[in-house]
Amino acid sequence: MRLPFKPVLIKAQRLLTMTHQHFTQAVHGHRAIVIGGSIAGLCAARAVSDFFEEVIIIERDPLNNGGITRKSVPQAQHTHYLLSGGANALASLYGKALPDLSTLGGIPISSGNQTLFYNGQQTSYLPNCVIPEPREFDFNGYSQSRSLVETALRNATENQSNISLLRGITVTGLLWQHGYVKGICYKGHSQEESLAADLIIDCSGRGSHILSWLSQAGFHKPPETMIDVDLVYCSARYEANQDTSPINIHVARDATLTNSRVGMVSLIEEKQWFVTLIGQFGNYPPKNEDGFLAFARTLPSMKVYELISRSQRTSDIHRFHFPRSTRRHYEALSQFPERLIMLGDTLNVINPIYGQGMTTAILQAQKLKETLTRRQQSGQGLTGLAPDLFRTYAKLMDAPWQLAAVQDMLNTKTRMERSETLLTFAQHMMAINALAVERADIHKTLLEVFHMRKPLSALYTDTIMEHIKTIPHPHPAPA
Ligand SMILES: Cc1cc2nc3c(=O)[nH]c(=O)nc-3n(C[C@H](O)[C@H](O)[C@H](O)COP(=O)(O)OP(=O)(O)OC[C@H]3O[C@@H](n4cnc5c(N)ncnc54)[C@H](O)[C@@H]3O)c2cc1C
Repeated sequence: MRLPFKPVLIKAQRLLTMTHQHFTQAVHGHRAIVIGGSIAGLCAARAVSDFFEEVIIIERDPLNNGGITRKSVPQAQHTHYLLSGGANALASLYGKALPDLSTLGGIPISSGNQTLFYNGQQTSYLPNCVIPEPREFDFNGYSQSRSLVETALRNATENQSNISLLRGITVTGLLWQHGYVKGICYKGHSQEESLAADLIIDCSGRGSHILSWLSQAGFHKPPETMIDVDLVYCSARYEANQDTSPINIHVARDATLTNSRVGMVSLIEEKQWFVTLIGQFGNYPPKNEDGFLAFARTLPSMKVYELISRSQRTSDIHRFHFPRSTRRHYEALSQFPERLIMLGDTLNVINPIYGQGMTTAILQAQKLKETLTRRQQSGQGLTGLAPDLFRTYAKLMDAPWQLAAVQDMLNTKTRMERSETLLTFAQHMMAINALAVERADIHKTLLEVFHMRKPLSALYTDTIMEHIKTIPHPHPAPA
């Protein structure tokens, strides 16, 4: 094994200027390698950088053009909303190293008064009930292009003196020794090489090879839960030149028991609208101009069509097919190799319509940092890190997964297990939605859970349970 990359050597020189005390206090190991330099990989590198002498991120894409368009991240051509919980976790991971997204052009969006849902003629500030008047709450998410978030994270991560991001290099496998992972194999600009590390973090996303690598080494695959939603996104950018309303996100929905179509217009940086049309189960939005507009016209509200038909399209129309959400239960495995962990879409892929993917990855990175800190303080080291994290991640995943599942199950064509637990949760959510109409505090709590600022248990407080008893038949308006 040798250090094959110039960037590593340059960073290694910078490391010499760091104090010996820094390492003896901080170190969990000499080197950590992160596979994939996208949202999960960048945040994971930041999270572990206080505990390793050097962190090397290996990214397959060359990131030409500043990485604004990326072959391996086609979803970047579609709306990417950052939830408030994700924005808070980024601030805690990066501190001042990462500017507030609004200073880079991202649009802060308060869900209580700047996102409007159109169900026919009826408008509401929540999708599954009727809240016709805006309410102001003291937190917000951000609307922007995905490349704005990723570029900001990349700059902030690369500024960290002991992190290197190596571009245009594909990891091809893991190096094993006595059942634990001791490094990676990669294909760079010329031949196959290998690089050793004390911790490998796979953040290579939906297309990760981790399952086959584990299986080749004799480890079992984790049990999986799937929800087949068969979604097609078609998205394009438009000039946002004539809408003066305070609403920054307009969502027109056509949701029946067998049909679910959505049109969404979100204000992003540079006075642009990201326009996304979504259809399911063969009822897909077309990618050509005429078909795109015709699909928008047939939504129950004309709002989306009205906005875009008077505006100039500034990008191609991009299409993305999302077949299913997949939750991998690594926490259920009795054996897992030491020195290997995963974050982000490598672990779970969730229906993107609810905007939870980036936030989940960022919160996982934050939990990784907390776990390494706790282990450092107790002298526990890295042994058993993966199962420890998988238990934590399973709890973290409960909220986004269940919130998505109760909504997905409304469409009878969705193929999924409709368990008793899920049906009970769906009833609870109906009751909460009904309460939110009258009570601003419950509306706020519901949004805080959606935004992953609070856990699901926030929807089960004594006060909420007392209120629910007073609703004889909770009947929120249909979605
Ligand atoms: C249509 C759509 C819309 C979405 N909208 C939202 C939204 O509004 N809000 C939100 O929060 N989330 C959204 N998401 C989800 C979000 O895109 C993902 O959850 C997020 O990108 C996960 O990040 P990641 O780093 O885990 O994976 P990815 O972003 O997929 O990155 C994986 C990285 O690994 C690299 N890589 C892969 N294999 C290798 C290898 N062998 N060697 C080296 N590098 C490798 C790739 O080049 C890539 O850079 C959406 C997803 C889709 C599909």
